[in-house]
This record gives sequence, structure tokens and C-alpha cells, in this order.
Amino acid sequence: MDREGIIKTKDSRDIEGIITKGVGGAYTIFAEGKSYICNARGIFRNRKTTPLVGDYAIISVTDEDNQKGTLHTIKPRKNQLRRPPVANIDQVIITVATARPAFNAGLLDRFLVLVAHEDIDVLICVNKSDIAKKDDSFSPYIAAGYPLVYTSAIDLHSDGLADLRRHMAGKVNVFAGPSGVGKSSLINALSPKLTLATGDLSTKLGRGKHTTRHSEIFALSENAADGYCVDTPGFSSLETETIPRSRLPVLFREFPPFSDGCRFVDCLHYQERDCAVKEQVGQGISPLRYESYVKILQTTNGASR
Ligand code: GDP
Ligand code: ZN
Repeated sequence: MDREGIIKTKDSRDIEGIITKGVGGAYTIFAEGKSYICNARGIFRNRKTTPLVGDYAIISVTDEDNQKGTLHTIKPRKNQLRRPPVANIDQVIITVATARPAFNAGLLDRFLVLVAHEDIDVLICVNKSDIAKKDDSFSPYIAAGYPLVYTSAIDLHSDGLADLRRHMAGKVNVFAGPSGVGKSSLINALSPKLTLATGDLSTKLGRGKHTTRHSEIFALSENAADGYCVDTPGFSSLETETIPRSRLPVLFREFPPFSDGCRFVDCLHYQERDCAVKEQVGQGISPLRYESYVKILQTTNGASR
């Protein structure tokens, strides 16, 4: 008997990996560069814990030749997404397009706020760099300290995709962002084996009616250090209204360095006097970003001063 009360067969060995797929009680665990198919022990049912894709797990390998094992322990989760249901996300890649659909700064700002509120790292991916010249739409984000890459999902040998891979290394990544910007295309471009439906919304909806998709994560290479990616995009719509108003100022990452200079410690940088953040608008803080902030602030709950 070992610590979980499980009788192990004589030659089984325990290894640690990550759950990449789970369908009907059978889990695929990527460990030591290989994929093992495992059943979960009954203990998960008793404890009301369902193993999730993205869980770090310990398995007993029961058949090395056929890559089979038993899943018996899942490690504590650092976070959990609802859509898609995936655990332990390290980074959300907010994807936008240079054009088609036209770049919408207010929308990007709302995505950024939502990810910051969840305390997950964020990367901005500006896709379709093949169809528009670089302009200064994204300078405020670079200046604010957001990591940002330009990509083209249709140019597989571009530097952009290599940059993107570098930013994904060592992390479990999920793409999010508005519809039509190329999230599925990027996932396809990164995956050696996947073919996701890309294209216009109507074909996607048509497909969705007939197939139930389980999310999976795939390793970006055989080397676990290169990171992982969830094969379905995450949230594409937003609810920023539920974020407490008092938290909003720290979710715009360029504000806190200046807020020490505000007269009020709980300054919302809105209607207060002597606000150091407002004084920076047009200097250290982009007017467009501040405008987004005010718009989001006006939709959150809580009395304004
Ligand atoms: P999603 O809704 O964000 O998953 O977007 P899709 O991946 O379905 O892409 C929407 C459309 O944009 C498709 O017609 C793609 O072929 C096209 N597309 C995606 N990425 C690029 C890109 O980098 N450059 C260009 N020119 N078109 C792209
Ligand atoms: Zn202020």
C-alpha cells in the first residue's frame, strides 16, 4: 500500500506529468516526453475532485511498452478556467488583428483588465501583421510594459511565430480575444498535428452544433520546457462589470507607479483632486488608455466620490 491506499503492482513506477486530455474517464498524461493513457482511481469520485486537463498528476506506469498507467494523485491547482475547463493556466495570449477586424483599443483594454483581475500573466499577440503596416496603435501597450508580439498565422516561417513560441516557453498558454482575429489559425500553426476549424463564424457555428469538443492541451514540442497550448480559444466576450471598482486602478499596469503621488490613498484617478495619475495623462499615460479606464470604471459597481 502506498500513501493513497493504493496497492501497486510490483513493477509499476510513479512519474509526474500533466493531463493533456480527458475523455470518458480515460486520461492522457504527458510525462517524460511520452503520452500515457491512464484510468483514474475511484478516490477522485469519493473526494468530489474531477481531474482536469492542465492538472499536474502523478501516475503509476503499469505497462511501459503500451504506455499505460493509473492516475492516482493530482497536485493542488493554481487556477481554473471555466471556458474552456482547464487548470493551471500560466498565460493568456490576448489576440487582436492589425485589421479585419479593425483594431479596437477599448476592447483590448477590457480583455487586459479581465486577465489582470485573474492574476494570470498576459501576452498581447497582434496577428495578421501580413495585411497591415505597423502603426503606432500598439505603442501605448509597449510603453505600459505589456509584452507584445506581431504574428502572421499564414506565414509559418515568419519571425513572429518564433517570437510567439519563445513567449510561450515554460508555460501553459491559452488564446483569447475577439472572434475572427486568427486564434484558431495560430493554434493550428503552432500545433504539429491539429486541424481546428477556421473561417467565418457561420461555418464554425454549424460545426459546433454537431460536435462536442473537449479541450486538450498539446506540448509545443517533445521537450516539456517549450510549453503547452490549449487547443481551443478561451473567452471571447467579457464581463468587466463584476470587478470591484476599488481594484480597477491596479489593473491598468501603468497607473500604480504614479499613484503614490495622489492626495488620496484610495484614489480612483477619476474625480478626485490632486491626482498624480490624471496629471500624467498625455505624458506617462496614454490618453486612449485613460479613456478606456474611465469607461470601464463607469460600468463597475460602487459609489463614485
Ligand atoms: P478566430 O475566430 O480568432 O479563431 O479566427 P480564425 O483563425 O478562424 O481566422 C479568421 C479568418 O482570418 C480566417 O479566414 C483566417 O484564414 C484568417 N487569418 C487568420 N490569421 C491570419 C493572418 O495572420 N493573416 C491573414 N491575412 N489572415 C489570417
Ligand atoms: Zn489618482
